[in-house]
Amino acid sequence: MANDSYEEAIAALQQLLSEKAELGSVAAAKIDRITGELQSIAERKNFDPVERLKNGFINFKREKFEKNPNLFNKLSKGQSPKFMVFACSDSRVCPSHMLDLQPGEAFMVRNIANMVPAYDKIRYSGAGAAIEYAVLHLKVQEIVVIGHSCCGGIKGLMSTPDDGTTASEFIEDWVKICLAAKTKVKAESGDSKFGDQCTKCEKAAVNVSLGNLLTYPFVREGLVKNTLALKGGYYDFVKGSFELWSLDVGLSPSLYVSSENLYFSESA
Ligand SMILES: [Zn+2]
Repeated sequence: MANDSYEEAIAALQQLLSEKAELGSVAAAKIDRITGELQSIAERKNFDPVERLKNGFINFKREKFEKNPNLFNKLSKGQSPKFMVFACSDSRVCPSHMLDLQPGEAFMVRNIANMVPAYDKIRYSGAGAAIEYAVLHLKVQEIVVIGHSCCGGIKGLMSTPDDGTTASEFIEDWVKICLAAKTKVKAESGDSKFGDQCTKCEKAAVNVSLGNLLTYPFVREGLVKNTLALKGGYYDFVKGSFELWSLDVGLSPSLYVSSENLYFSESA
């Protein structure tokens, strides 16, 4: 079997690494890298996507669907979620998992770097349609935009050359939705480390998105009538913490949630 030969090769390399303690660091790093590559090839070969999805659904049906007949019976007749959530497409930041949101609780949009574009019927009709449906038809009470640590989209935004040249078909143009956040971070913290700037931009971009939500007339109307509220959130999956703040950031204290503590901090 091809898999066996990969596994044998990995085992041989690992043995070589453990036996040859005197190997130079460059050679050791090289072997380490090759071992990693072989492991990922072996994992890909062993991965059966149909089996994974089938088992996932069987598990969901057994553990959730069949154990909550009242909930799923109710949901079969319609939905009335309280939340609309914007979150990043990043596979590590699923709101259903990190906020324990159950089916029917949140109407969700996920895209690169959890961005909300300003009202634009031509370029961003997908986002507009989702917001319109959530606000006018589902009558959600809260729109929450959630940023996160180590966001590749934000890193891309922060890395895009100032001369406007792009290397991607869509990505750089999309993340420019929050260009104002990059400008703010560069102006205020341009001297700090790139990683720190990205972290600041991950939060600043959430505020730009909250501001962009105000360009939708039905969002403004909901805020004026007090039937709708806007919140920013930030999930740090390195620290295991979640931060939440209102649109009027700086005026009200933000709510900060870590794995064990719940307390108010002064600002976002
Ligand atoms: Zn992201």
